[in-house]
Amino acid sequence: MEIRGIRLKKHKISKLAKGFFVLRKSENYVVPLSVGVSEQSERVVSVGDKVNEGTLLAKPKGKYGNFVYSPCCGSVVGIVRKLNINGIICDHVIIKQENREDKSYLPTMDASEFSAEKLLKRLYESGMVDNFPPYEVTYKKYLLNSSIKQLIINCTETDPYEYATSAIVQTYTSEMFEGALLFKTLCNAENIIFVFTNKQAKTIKLFKEYLKKRGLKNKVKIKIYPHIYPLSYSRLLAYYQTGKMVKENSRTAEIKVIVEGAINCYDFFHAVYNGKPAIERAVTISGNNCLRKANYFVKNGTPINHIMEVVGFNSNSYENMLIFGGIMTGVAQETPSASITLAANSLLLCDSSEFGLEKESECINCGKCVQHCPVRIHVKNVDDAFTERDFMQAKKLGVSTCLNCGVCSFVCPAKRKLAQKVQYMKNFTENRRAKNPDSSDYLLVEGEDTTMQQDFDTILDVKGGYENVKETNEQSAALEVIESLKEKKPDSIISEGGDKNE
Ligand code: SF4
Ligand code: SF4
Repeated sequence: MEIRGIRLKKHKISKLAKGFFVLRKSENYVVPLSVGVSEQSERVVSVGDKVNEGTLLAKPKGKYGNFVYSPCCGSVVGIVRKLNINGIICDHVIIKQENREDKSYLPTMDASEFSAEKLLKRLYESGMVDNFPPYEVTYKKYLLNSSIKQLIINCTETDPYEYATSAIVQTYTSEMFEGALLFKTLCNAENIIFVFTNKQAKTIKLFKEYLKKRGLKNKVKIKIYPHIYPLSYSRLLAYYQTGKMVKENSRTAEIKVIVEGAINCYDFFHAVYNGKPAIERAVTISGNNCLRKANYFVKNGTPINHIMEVVGFNSNSYENMLIFGGIMTGVAQETPSASITLAANSLLLCDSSEFGLEKESECINCGKCVQHCPVRIHVKNVDDAFTERDFMQAKKLGVSTCLNCGVCSFVCPAKRKLAQKVQYMKNFTENRRAKNPDSSDYLLVEGEDTTMQQDFDTILDVKGGYENVKETNEQSAALEVIESLKEKKPDSIISEGGDKNE
């Protein structure tokens, strides 16, 4: 079957990028009560409440809401309503962190409880959210009307800046694999298959060695695809595996397939065996302006300005440098005071050489946008329909099937903003007009905002230029954290990993 998309080079990642680091604790956490496309959850804490790591902050409201848990020990000091990092207005709970280690996790489960029903309940109450499109609550995929033939464990990575999935598979192979088996029990799938790309040689090798040690060599199916972006999108993987394409907003379960992320498998393992709810994510922090490109475990609600201070950044060129998500589809952030959500997969501190700021020019009818679109939308014609604001025509051209992968914009020699226009037409035809990010949407609901609305200049004043950054206390502190982790928690740092040149 033809694999659609484009080949992209991996972004260079420094030697320090190998494995996972744990970020130094932030003074405050600002936890959004709506993640990805989920509805806002109903807050169950108020200003003044003491919380532990894992204390419930909010419960589901509406059909597909989710449980939200405290990422740290501390006190609730304020509630603000503002844009989350995905551009959705929602309430955020501000927690002033306290140096305690108290945990209020869910009860642990043992093997006798591993029925589909009980595992679904655990998935629901864990608050897990997919960190891949369409960024929905994870349990939604498992509300099934029919049987499942294939459970696809997505270990691929085709965005040039993302490394966290490979690092999870390499470092926490056992947890990832066991988590995948829990998902298999949950959906009662006939088959389970682990998919990779041919640029993940080291990850595949380590995974195969693990299977061999367990006596599972040749008993677990592995499929290796060409390294073509955006192969890792669930709908595309399901298509490549079955030859059937599900419509946007439809679930792959309709063609008896579920696609689950390797990082979700790791998180589900801990939700089941350790009762750990969704409070953190494996995230790649990278980009030319990032001084310590690496994979980190980042707690939900961690302010980006805290991350920037810990990882260090080159402040010489800061315009448009902050991108949440991959380089192809990420959302540019106006302010570093936004906080990380559970839908995170990467945070990029980019310089202007890393993405096109060129002005649009006239279309030269080269046809590349159509040729490379993985779902074969006639993008050039959608561009014309956008100019005319002809929404009926855009609908006829199939904008509803757009994956928002960004390939059309990337390949266009005229630098036309094609993906944005297709998304605009799609949102309009589906009555899902995106909100215009506007700082006036900020509202203090309760208590005080101890996080301070910070802009880039504020941080620049603190940090100075590139050379100074390397010598700041923050940078030394980051190194200290890394050193101390090496001593105390060898499992949280690996000596090798990442997939620089797999
Ligand atoms: S039209 Fe949509 S699916 Fe096609 S290349 Fe552009 S962003 Fe990707
Ligand atoms: S890729 Fe750009 S220049 Fe080529 S046909 Fe499409 S819109 Fe026109």
